[in-house]
Amino acid sequence: MSHVQDLIIDKAYIGGQWRDADRHFSVTNPATGETLAEVPDLNAEEVREAIGAADAAWAGWKRKTAKERSALLRAWFNSIMDHQEALAELMTREQGKPLAESRGEVAYGAAFVEFYAEEAKRVAGETLPGHGPDKRILVFREPVGVVAAITPWNFPLAMITRKCAPAMAAGCTVVVKPAEATPLTALALAKLAEDVGIPAGVLNVVTSSSPREVGPVLTGDARVRKVSFTGSTPVGKILLAQCADTVKKASMELGGNAPFIVFDDADLDAAVEGAIASKYRNSGQTCVCTNRFLVQDGVYDAFVEKLAKRVGELKVGNGLEDGVVQGPLINSAAVDKVQSHIADALDNGARLVAGGEALEGTFFQPTVLADVTTDMRVAREETFGPLAPVFRFSSDDEAIAMANDTEFGLAAYFYATDYRRIWRTMEQLEYGMVAINEGILSTELAPFGGVKESGLGREGSRHGLDEYTELKYACVGGL
Ligand code: ADP
Repeated sequence: MSHVQDLIIDKAYIGGQWRDADRHFSVTNPATGETLAEVPDLNAEEVREAIGAADAAWAGWKRKTAKERSALLRAWFNSIMDHQEALAELMTREQGKPLAESRGEVAYGAAFVEFYAEEAKRVAGETLPGHGPDKRILVFREPVGVVAAITPWNFPLAMITRKCAPAMAAGCTVVVKPAEATPLTALALAKLAEDVGIPAGVLNVVTSSSPREVGPVLTGDARVRKVSFTGSTPVGKILLAQCADTVKKASMELGGNAPFIVFDDADLDAAVEGAIASKYRNSGQTCVCTNRFLVQDGVYDAFVEKLAKRVGELKVGNGLEDGVVQGPLINSAAVDKVQSHIADALDNGARLVAGGEALEGTFFQPTVLADVTTDMRVAREETFGPLAPVFRFSSDDEAIAMANDTEFGLAAYFYATDYRRIWRTMEQLEYGMVAINEGILSTELAPFGGVKESGLGREGSRHGLDEYTELKYACVGGL
């Protein structure tokens, strides 16, 4: 059992070396403002070195047998789970989420490593009927090469493993650039990878406080063959444009504007529990968090009342304290955004039924607004905070039209019991993921990802591994 202090590392990890730099930046605890560490602020040249290290390690890593890569990933999984408690505490300190959620994220993030350790052994090609009697067609699945993974702060562990594990399973090497708010969990993961013998250069972690400076290094270097990004849609668009120059492959897991539809025939108590899980997890700071509750006339008042009551019971505080289910928001800009969305809605006729106030630091009361309409900012913009706006609808067609009236298409949720309505709604929602009578849908077993401006590609399941392989077709002739 390790202690959290053993996992706080203030060096970047390049080519198997723990590296310092001339400049540093602070990592702070959003619940207390305390500085946890000063980590290296790498420059463009140092990031290029990491790409070089990943490139140099690639040949050896892809030549290993699938079983060897599988065993190393499995050992990494075991090590992550052995350090679950210390990693969870570290994550709560640097990110703010309640300890129970951090423990859950360690298990969820580790599950990707376990899954792809297994899947590594099943990267099979195929033989196809030839186009002539003397020809044979062989199809191989080969690793794409060096991968740059750029990850956000809201899931400091899982967003890294769900890119690195399939990439490494496929035979790729990786340079991870974690979010500047949460580099410590990434560095701890790298230490555990080193401890179990993952070879130098296969996994590199570059810390930087200036993504605008090092981002173009990762997207512009021809040795990087693929960029896998999770973060906001505007940044995803910048990265995609930058990738065009060297025609890099890209996976993009971007923003959402998730609807949560409650039909007249829904089990209301189940819907309220699903609403709490989907809206207030990580204080509303996940890309699949509900942004818009769409509730049918017949159950509107009852749903709002039950939801407001449950939300009033959510305990806000430092995530390390017992019973806390709502930690701080990541920074003051996040608080400003929630406040501005609430102010705009109230100015335009919404009704406050729970919360509404900023608390000390970056804590915020979980909030519910009723009588919300589509001309308010909350209808279009991702709040990324603990605010539940409740809209009203009459017919199923109106609900579907409202749900799809967005440029995003990541997750959608709905509660209903009539099976025809369930099928119809499931098919008509223009989303990459639909949760039916469920408030949580993330799992390593399913393909996670969005349509429209919510992204490209899928993470999780066997499809998540395809993102890191290229097909090579060999035509064998003259037989
Ligand atoms: P969030 O709003 O969740 O912070 P961002 O999209 O800003 O989402 O950040 C997600 C990741 O993208 C972080 O690692 C961040 O450092 C990185 N990032 C932000 N801006 C850029 C950029 N211009 N180029 C490359 N990476 C960036």
